[in-house]
Amino acid sequence: MSTLAYRRILLKLSGEALMGEEDYGIDPKVIGRLALEVVEAQQAGAEIALVVGGGNIFRGAGLAAGGMDRVTGDQMGMLATVINALAMQDALEKVGAKARVMSAIKINDVCEDYIRRRAIRHLEKGRIVIFAAGTGNPFFTTDSGAALRAIEIGADLLLKATKVDGVYDADPKKNPAAIRFDTLTYDEVIARDLQVMDTAAFALCRDSELPLRIFDMGQPGQLLRILKGEPIGTLVQG
Ligand code: UDP
Repeated sequence: MSTLAYRRILLKLSGEALMGEEDYGIDPKVIGRLALEVVEAQQAGAEIALVVGGGNIFRGAGLAAGGMDRVTGDQMGMLATVINALAMQDALEKVGAKARVMSAIKINDVCEDYIRRRAIRHLEKGRIVIFAAGTGNPFFTTDSGAALRAIEIGADLLLKATKVDGVYDADPKKNPAAIRFDTLTYDEVIARDLQVMDTAAFALCRDSELPLRIFDMGQPGQLLRILKGEPIGTLVQG
């Protein structure tokens, strides 16, 4: 019997989380460690879905700033998330897990198309599902993709892994007196104008009352501890 506080979760990893100390691409050591942690949490009894970003390869806004058509740039960004998702699938399988990449844009020679019912079935069968290509639409981010998929699959919690150990009232790198919040309501996030996720992603979480926990996955072991109910990072809920 699982003693976990959550049955099904969605973990959002930014593309930057995969590059470790590098300034581009994927660090195999880092992705291997992240995969081990995810498998450890899954073996403890949780159903786990992942969303990976693409910022370690391309971001549409950055490409547009360099003169590229924004929609094309966003499509390149979405394809970058597919590359990361395939790397994560490989890393998960190397440590013995069963994983499936499901893409919001059709590239079904390399991965499955996203079909909600099939995704839920994979989770029920103990497979880790990696949702790629965000929402499938330009002008969105993978944070929005993560919120959307978490709601669609009925996740109990959306976990956002960052490089900071929660949400602060000021940037803790610039202001050593910044205070970290243990919990926040959706309304407090808006009233204080805290940058938890982009606005579209946050609105989805709030409207569906999806609890959101922001934490630092650079510190090993945090994921499993959160699933066991430890109050790590910052919890945002209604
Ligand atoms: N993207 C998009 N639609 C989506 C999700 C992502 O167009 O639904 C594109 C967008 O260009 C974005 C890029 O993919 O910049 C990579 O995603 P994101 O910036 O969210 O990655 P992260 O910052 O999490 O690494």
